[in-house]
This record gives sequence, C-alpha cells and structure tokens, in this order.
Amino acid sequence: CGPRVSELTEAGNLAGVQHIILVLSGKGGVGKSTISTELALALRHAGKKVGILDVDLCGPSIPRMLRAQGRAVHQCDGGWVPVYVDQEQSICLMSVGFLLENPDEAVVWRGPKKNDTPPGTSDEHMATVDALRPYGPLGALVVTTPQAVSVGDVRRELTFCRKTGLRVLGVVENMSGFVCPHCAECTSIFSRGGGEELASHAGVPFLGSVPLDPELTKSLEEGRDFIREFPESPAFPALLSIAQKV
Ligand code: ADP
Repeated sequence: CGPRVSELTEAGNLAGVQHIILVLSGKGGVGKSTISTELALALRHAGKKVGILDVDLCGPSIPRMLRAQGRAVHQCDGGWVPVYVDQEQSICLMSVGFLLENPDEAVVWRGPKKNDTPPGTSDEHMATVDALRPYGPLGALVVTTPQAVSVGDVRRELTFCRKTGLRVLGVVENMSGFVCPHCAECTSIFSRGGGEELASHAGVPFLGSVPLDPELTKSLEEGRDFIREFPESPAFPALLSIAQKV
C-alpha cells in the first residue's frame, strides 16, 4: 500500500514551481530516469533549482542515480517533504523508492492504486497529468531510442500528449550512437535519426541526441555527477544543449 500520485503532489507544495516538465516515453528502459536525472544535473550546472518527482512506481531508480538511496522522507501537514540530494540544496527529489522499506522490495500495484501510476498511455498517465495540472502549464519531453519499435511507441505517446493538451517541448533521441571507452569517438551501432524524423513528422521540436556512454552508465550506477565529472564526453554537450532548450 502506498501513496497516490495526487498525494505526492498535494497541498500546494508545487505552488512555487515555475516550469513543470513531464519526461515520458512509450516504453521502459529507453532512458526516462537517465534523462530526468542528467537534465536535473545540467540545469543545476546552469544555476537553476530543480525538483524531481519520480513516479516510476514499479522500479524507481532515480534515488540510486542521485545517491539518495535510503534517505527518509517525512509527511507534514502540507504533504510529503522531498529530500535534497546536494549540499547546495539545488536538487530535491521525491520518489516512491523512499517509501519502500527495502530497496530491493518489489512494488506490486493493483486496482485503484495501479490506476494512479505510470507508465502507459491510459489511466496511469492521466492520473499523473491530472495531479500536476493545477500547478501550471505542463510541458512534455518525449524520450525515444533510435530503433523503430521504440519510435512506434513514442508516436503513441505523442498522440497521448496531443489528446491531453500537453505541450510537447520536444523529442530526445537517447542511446544514439556508442561512445568508445578508449578514444571517446562516437559510433552509430544502431540506426540513427529516428527521433529527429519522428519529431519532424509530428511537427514538434527535436531537442537532441544523447549517445550511449559507458561512463554515463557507471556514473548513474555510482550516483556521481556526470555533468561535473565528464565534460569531455560527447554526451555532455548534448545534455547541456537539451537543458537550455526546455
Ligand atoms: P527508463 O527510466 O526509461 O526505464 P533508464 O533511465 O533506467 O530507463 O535507463 C535504462 C538503463 O540504461 C540504465 O541502466 C541506464 O544507466 C542506462 N542508460 C540510459 N541512457 C544511457 C546513456 N545515454 N548512456 C549510458 N547508459 C544509459
């Protein structure tokens, strides 16, 4: 038993937030958590303050990516109090992961609770959009990988955004090429350009391509600040440029 998305956002806690960006994809494992985390780090790098609401109820991974695993969140009259992940207090995080007693615990959501959780393009998504809508206009950043199957899922996600009145800020193609761990050269191991094609077909902006970088995978596993530590990676300018555009 756990909170609903609406409970995580309730009571005006988001009232001072200027921009709300939903990071979406039609498919798991394409990099929603990665892009959300790196975007937060890139925005902090640009002097912004960021709050992340990780509503991945079945496999919340952002606490680990930001080295905030095991931190405690508390409930107060105004709702849940997120945790700051850094000393500067520039990034705060609320995640279902904080509500699990054991990080390895499987989260099984059924019935009405499940209807209040992402991903998908139906009730679960609607619940998140409905919970956030009172706090201002919502922008959607849609993540895809270059492969066609994922692009097909993302097309459905774009239709969802259109139907629910979400403004699509743009499409990000993640895992677009592979960064060689030895020479840092970026090679296209899969097809490329699917995200850009999709964006142009849908008439929405293309925000950029983020390559698959083993250093980034490692940074996420170890909860390190990739943006600060790997400015020479080809993924660095891509992430910074996406952060500037959203
Ligand atoms: P999702 O949130 O969509 O399920 P994740 O963000 O958890 O996907 O990404 C899946 C896995 O791929 C994670 O282990 C992450 O570290 C890795 N990953 C995602 N994007 C990249 C990237 N651009 N470079 C390296 N590793 C990545």
